[in-house]
Amino acid sequence: MNKKTIRDVNVRGKRVLVRVDFNVPLKDGAITDDIRIRAALPTINYLLEKGAALILCSHLGRAKGKVVPELKMDPVATRLSELLGRPVKKMDDCIGPVVEDAAAALQPGEVILLENTRFHAEETANDPGFAKQVAGLADIFVNDAFGAAHRAHATTVGVADYLPAVAGFLMEKELEFLGKATSDPEHPYVAILGGAKISDKIGVIESLLSKCDRLLIGGGMANTFFKAMGFEVGDSLVEDDAVATAKTLLEKAGSQLVLPVDAVVADAFDNEANAKVVAPNEVTPGWRILDIGPKTVQTFESALGGAKTVIWNGPMGVFEMPNFAKGTFAVAETLAKLDAITVIGGGDSAAAVKQAGLAEKMSHVSTGGGASLEFLEGKTLPGVAALADK
Ligand code: ADP
Ligand code: MG
Repeated sequence: MNKKTIRDVNVRGKRVLVRVDFNVPLKDGAITDDIRIRAALPTINYLLEKGAALILCSHLGRAKGKVVPELKMDPVATRLSELLGRPVKKMDDCIGPVVEDAAAALQPGEVILLENTRFHAEETANDPGFAKQVAGLADIFVNDAFGAAHRAHATTVGVADYLPAVAGFLMEKELEFLGKATSDPEHPYVAILGGAKISDKIGVIESLLSKCDRLLIGGGMANTFFKAMGFEVGDSLVEDDAVATAKTLLEKAGSQLVLPVDAVVADAFDNEANAKVVAPNEVTPGWRILDIGPKTVQTFESALGGAKTVIWNGPMGVFEMPNFAKGTFAVAETLAKLDAITVIGGGDSAAAVKQAGLAEKMSHVSTGGGASLEFLEGKTLPGVAALADK
């Protein structure tokens, strides 16, 4: 990786501003999944061990520039304090005299957590004055929020204009795995794409086609390809606006693209609907494709045989319904058994792999949904560009 990390700077006795991704799911004021907090612990603990004082900040939910009481960082501070085994003082703002005094008084080993950065509209506007005020609290900036790195906001990009900026360990791990897969993959390199819509991912398809040996397509995205091939798709999810693009991709990619050879169709969008397995050109009105079929699972398994690098984004079916999760879980099982670098990108795909109990078997499950997609598209993430080069 060509970006500086926390290993490359001396943080002893310094005040370090750490942008983390503590955008955790909340229900009735309680955190329902603390994985994002845990993911930042290696960076936080390392900096504390090295004698830094920490000023942590994150956004939480969609506050849209206003104070939203339900989106205050208090439950996050409580949970972080439990995980660290030391006090975490939650501030009531991320700028202003009270915060400045608290930051100035911080001693090595102490931690404060700023209030939700998106309570200020200046955060998403990347306002330089606001960024300067936040940066003024610290001596060094560490970005460990890969999940927010595709946004040019004040605490992901702006602060780097005023402070030396380096990557934390989570950011480093994401950039290493996604970077290797996109710029220097070991071949055979197989990509798997699925999910609901093709239109979100046309850039990803094109970018992957230029690099991978095979691209397997499943999920709702495959339906638009079927339509482009002239098949009847019944009531399946299809994007009519993308049929022409799908046609072009089919012509361009040829045998590099591997499409499903059978599908599980249902007579309603419901876990309890009547379901059957049909060939992709046998879907009739009143039926909709909700999963890849068993023959496709085998086809994909063969296509993955011997792969050395695999990137997977997008579930193979409506895995939220157990009766239509089989294809997604089977592909996850196949990946788990491969002797390859396996990288999972995308929020729903990561959730599916976790649900299958196979997250530990993958080389890397990205914590960034949108950020990992933009990375796979070959885009430069502004939060990464803002970090100092090695
Ligand atoms: P990710 O978050 O991993 O990038 P997406 O958001 O693109 O994935 O897609 C995930 C969604 O796609 C899931 O909610 C899943 O139910 C849906 N999906 C997958 N296959 C189908 C299908 N055949 N019909 C309708 N929806 C589908
Ligand atoms: Mg998604």
